Amino acid sequence: MVQQSNIDSHRMKLGKIIGEGNFGEVHIGELMDKDDKTISEQVAIKTVKNADSVRSVSEFLEEATIMHNFDHPNVLSLLGVVIDEGKPYVIMPLMEHGDLRTFIGKPEQSFTVRDLLDFAHQVAKGMSYLEDARFVHRDLAARNCMVNQRRTVKIADFGLARDIYTEDYYRVVDKYRPLPVKWMALEALKHSKFTSKSDVWSYGVVLFELMTRGEKPYCHIDNVDLKRYLETGRRLEKPEVTPQCMSVTLLLYNSIDYTYDLMTRCWLEDPVERPSFAEICKVLEDIVSDDVDTKDH
Ligand code: ATP
Repeated sequence: MVQQSNIDSHRMKLGKIIGEGNFGEVHIGELMDKDDKTISEQVAIKTVKNADSVRSVSEFLEEATIMHNFDHPNVLSLLGVVIDEGKPYVIMPLMEHGDLRTFIGKPEQSFTVRDLLDFAHQVAKGMSYLEDARFVHRDLAARNCMVNQRRTVKIADFGLARDIYTEDYYRVVDKYRPLPVKWMALEALKHSKFTSKSDVWSYGVVLFELMTRGEKPYCHIDNVDLKRYLETGRRLEKPEVTPQCMSVTLLLYNSIDYTYDLMTRCWLEDPVERPSFAEICKVLEDIVSDDVDTKDH
């Protein structure tokens, strides 16, 4: 829940580095109570690499400002911002399992198909909230979703996100960031047109990542060839249930079929024909409940 924005620097204890991004490092940390004596919670603290650059700092804080608006269990929130000796620190809930792609790819973690569908459902719920708020994420991918100890998935990385309240869509090519080509909708690749429906396309790729436990999409196609590939109507193929998957999943063959059907609807050429995130949530609920009815006990 969004609680506060500016936090007194004395309340923040910076720990070891747990990750690195384009702008800076992410540390584990502690947030002390207002009396500075007891730990109120473990947190993640993002720092900016180049604190002297006005552009870096303002872009860094822009992401924090975007996060400040959100209040949903499946969207990463902002706990606050600390400014210490002119350097900004962004404080967020700690997501102990790190990003979703790494998490699902860990061979030592066991997942049932139901678990993977539950992650998919959580991402869809978070995206449905953003869709209602008329926010376009533009970089939805499993690597940009985070997982906490209770396996709650939260959408993160709002570096490319935009409020489209006054526009039908947002057009931009940011020359400073690599484009997430293999997650991008055809109209985003062709015309830099980003809408909630281009986020839906990316969501279809996230479903593929989930069902393959983190396989790279279009691994045999170069980024430069992707647009032509998609223009001919071709799409990602149905994920195979690999032996590696089989050993750790309660096999629900039908759910793979139903999920692939959902993916292909997310990749329809006409954005209007793609489902909304609210519809995706409903489809996933149906797949899971159908599975309960047909499962062998
Ligand atoms: P950007 O392009 O905005 O720099 P990024 O995902 O490459 O995005 P960060 O958002 O800075 O970089 O995150 C870097 C890494 O830090 C992540 O991949 C993740 O492993 C870790 N991380 C980020 N946020 C959290 C968090 N709230 N809890 C735990 N780990 C986190």
